[in-house]
Order: sequence, then C-alpha cells, then structure tokens
Amino acid sequence: MPNPLGPHGRCDGAGGARPPRPVVHHSHKKDEILEALWTMREDGSESLGDLAALVATTRLEEIIGEMVAAGTVVRDKDNLSLTASGETRAREIIRRHRLAERLFHDVFGLSEAQWEASACSFEHILDVTVVEAVCTFLGHPSVCPHEKPIPPGRCCRDARRPTEPLVIPLTSLKVGGDAKIIYIAPRTKSRLSRLSSFGVIPGSNIHLLQRHPSYVIRIDQTNVALEGDVARDIFVRPDNSHTH
Ligand SMILES: [Zn+2]
Ligand SMILES: [Zn+2]
Repeated sequence: MPNPLGPHGRCDGAGGARPPRPVVHHSHKKDEILEALWTMREDGSESLGDLAALVATTRLEEIIGEMVAAGTVVRDKDNLSLTASGETRAREIIRRHRLAERLFHDVFGLSEAQWEASACSFEHILDVTVVEAVCTFLGHPSVCPHEKPIPPGRCCRDARRPTEPLVIPLTSLKVGGDAKIIYIAPRTKSRLSRLSSFGVIPGSNIHLLQRHPSYVIRIDQTNVALEGDVARDIFVRPDNSHTH
C-alpha cells in the first residue's frame, strides 16, 4: 500500500497510529480529498489520476460525485477543481495541518514520522480558538516545516506585528535583548541535562550578551556560552517592555 502519510500536509487516515475519530469517516474522506486537491494544485495538478494516487479509497468516483453535488468540487472530465466553498474548507484543513506540523516540529522536536500522524488527527479536532492560539504562539508562521505556505487566518491579519513571533529561537534574539526561556527542544537528553545544570531551563530570564563567536547569555549572575546549534534549540519570548 502507498505511504499513508504523504508529505506536505496530506493524510489519508488509513495507516499509522489511529487516533479516535472526532468526525464520521465519510466526511473525513471528503476533507482528505479537499486537502489533496489543494496540495495537488500547489504542484500544478488537477488530475483525477493524481488524486487517486493520494487518497486511499475504492469509492473515489462516488465520493467525488457527492462532492460535485454538494458544490465543493467541479469536475470537467478527469480534471477536478475546488469551488469557492471547497476552497474555504480546504484552506482551513491545510492551515490546521501545517500549523500542527510547526507545533510538533518546533516545539516538541518530534521527527517527521511522529508529527505527521499527529498533524493528521489535529487538523480535524482543533477548533478555531485553539488554532488561533497555536498560530499566535508560533508567531503566525508563513510556512510549514516542508516550506509549504500556511494559509493565514484572521489572527495573522489582526496581529499588530505579524512578523514578530511571540516565541523565537535564541539565535534570533538581538544582542542586549532580554527574554524568558519558553521551551528547549534539544536533540539529545544529555544536552538537556547539561543545559539545566547551568540554569538554562524553561522559565529562566536571560540576557543575551553576544552572538559571536559563540552565544553568551547571562542567567542570574552567571554567564553561559553556547554553540550555535545549542542556541537554536532554545526558544525564548523576547521581553519588549523596554523598547516600546
Ligand atoms: Zn508540511
Ligand atoms: Zn496567525
């Protein structure tokens, strides 16, 4: 069988660890088709054949027929396109999926195989308020970890400073900046325990003294030097209270 967890925000729900389904299977399949049509369009395809390769079902023709009747999809021979309402729904699903990917990738440091399965279930259960909170927490990111665009939501348009994320890697903090450590996504456990022995733990307030040749932060009265690849694993919320 094909890999059920295709890249770039597709999932067919047919494999991997199976989460409880919050929606009936049939509408999940339609969501999956809308999602697949969106990602296919990004790759320049509208063909039914390409869709069939992405969506695991023996009832594709029948479901497409229902979607045409429901007004979410337009079919012209073997070409498929989204109607305005199909587009709206697909956009919402893609947005949730790709934000979930960012969350699992950036915040929890999960591998792609781990996050893809979770992103597929999250896209169906996150409600609008939660999606906006996640988007704001991540700083309204514009792309997923695969560099595919994340359709912006209302929170992104309303954000006063949409280019300034709430939480950024330490490597993006300006020299002289104060920040609070929000989370650490180390590549190894030993690194995490070494960092915590220096007080580099979530909740600590830091001051960035220099970036080159290594990052030096002050925590309490102690200066700690960090290599760039370690600093990249540390995510902080800049304290902008002095600057605005
Ligand atoms: Zn992606
Ligand atoms: Zn946003």
